[in-house]
Amino acid sequence: MLPASSDVIVVGAGNAAFCAAFAAYEQGASVLLLERASVNEAGGNSRFTAGAFRCVYNDINDLKALMPDLTNEEIANTDFGTYTEEKFFDDMGRVTEYRTDADLCELLIKRSKETMLWMRDKGIRFAPIFGRQAFKVGGKFKFWGGLTVEAWGGGPGLIAAYTETARKKGIQIAYETRALSLIADDDGIKGVQVRHCGRTTELKAKCVVLAAGGFQANAEMRTRYLGPLWELAKVRGSRFNTGDGIKMALDIGAMPVGNWSGCHAVGWDRNAPEFGDLSVGDNFQKHSYPFSIMLNANGERFVDEGADFRNYTYAKYGRVILMQPGQFAWQIFDRKVLHLLRDEYRIKRVSKVRADTLEELVKKLEGTNAERALATIYAYNKSVKHDVPFDPNVKDGRGTEGLAIPKSNWANTIEEPPFESYAVTCGITFTFGGLKIDTEARVIDSDGNPIAGLFAAGELVGGLFYFNYPGGTGLMAGSVFGKIAGTAAGRRAVA
Ligand SMILES: Cc1cc2nc3c(=O)[nH]c(=O)nc-3n(C[C@H](O)[C@H](O)[C@H](O)COP(=O)(O)OP(=O)(O)OC[C@H]3O[C@@H](n4cnc5c(N)ncnc54)[C@H](O)[C@@H]3O)c2cc1C
Repeated sequence: MLPASSDVIVVGAGNAAFCAAFAAYEQGASVLLLERASVNEAGGNSRFTAGAFRCVYNDINDLKALMPDLTNEEIANTDFGTYTEEKFFDDMGRVTEYRTDADLCELLIKRSKETMLWMRDKGIRFAPIFGRQAFKVGGKFKFWGGLTVEAWGGGPGLIAAYTETARKKGIQIAYETRALSLIADDDGIKGVQVRHCGRTTELKAKCVVLAAGGFQANAEMRTRYLGPLWELAKVRGSRFNTGDGIKMALDIGAMPVGNWSGCHAVGWDRNAPEFGDLSVGDNFQKHSYPFSIMLNANGERFVDEGADFRNYTYAKYGRVILMQPGQFAWQIFDRKVLHLLRDEYRIKRVSKVRADTLEELVKKLEGTNAERALATIYAYNKSVKHDVPFDPNVKDGRGTEGLAIPKSNWANTIEEPPFESYAVTCGITFTFGGLKIDTEARVIDSDGNPIAGLFAAGELVGGLFYFNYPGGTGLMAGSVFGKIAGTAAGRRAVA
């Protein structure tokens, strides 16, 4: 049975939604979460993640507060470095070409640490991301790229823990309940119209928090806003994020803001299904490309694979791959770096070829001009600067010389068998354009005024990300703004 009225309705049941629900509950409000998916598919994109959170930490004590289980041995054998507010600001500024909304960005960064600690109180446990974000060199792990902490059990663990906490607090999650539209009048929000078990019903609420994700799973909206070819992208995560939350807010006058033609999109297995598969999670991604060269159908390189750490290039390279002929590319590695490939390269459902000679390898690169591919590899091999040592933990400056498209770091020749190659296409993660919110996560209308009782958090908020994105920021932003939105909504509802 759906409750006919609640203080706060939260639309969605992903990371942003749960944070909003818990924060509203803490204010004494009664809370209902609406989840379009069934229990089996619930949890949105958040459930597909590795659970990596980008957060500020100034020293090992900050990390120990977040991860009390860190052992002395782990601390002794690891260089965690620091990730200060300044570094986070630098990263957000640089990757968004300084377009990120200054007020929202400041909140994201300054509240990141305290929000993570608050999440611990809500039953979430964290661990260091050994392996993916730190390589062992000289017996010691060294973290790089500002991404150090993940939720226990990744995205599935995160959603399971949130769901359990909601159950303990008596917060109801209405599964298979799709929000259709907002009920509002001149005084603001009055509730949500929903479809549940084939029936359309109106649920009353004093406040609504929209946390229903972006429009990446909607091919029509993708093409309309991102442009031609985007209907051909594969969706990495939830098939339920079709822009409903954005549309229902725009319908009552909310202001659209941000990079509507932009999105987060990565290199993703060429033969992956159209939408995410929870049994594979994020493992269709192929993120070790900085140690590869990538060739398109013409057998040519098309991007600087080593321009920066993976965290700062992966989210924009999906678009670059989509724009290649046939919308695919091959990542090519030789023996020297195979041990550095991330776990996702070793899954069963992988589009991979292997050969002992380059001549044999290029013939196996389906859809690619083999002759040109061979010539490209030879030219690349000749261009590698051998006098700079290779180091995967730093931007080592071991680049190429004389190529029209350089490789700036981690350039190694491709000449030692066995050779391995992996086929990727574009996998879209989430869209950047969305709703305008203020620093209390209130949704702003197109006249610049808050819509009374309406709040938003997560992917469907616009203005934070433009062109690119620093890995691990999506979950962090959802948590920070989910908490802000839920606190403000709860406070208003019980006032
Ligand atoms: C494969 C993959 C890996 C990723 N890895 C990371 C990572 O490690 N770190 C990171 O920071 N980010 C990662 N991301 C991005 C991250 O998933 C998102 O930024 C974040 O999870 C978004 O959270 P959200 O709560 O806004 O949306 P979601 O978690 O997608 O939740 C949206 C919710 O709304 C529901 N919904 C949609 N429409 C309706 C409707 N009409 N009515 C009711 N409910 C509705 C959905 O079913 C879902 O429950 C990854 C994404 C993918 C796809």
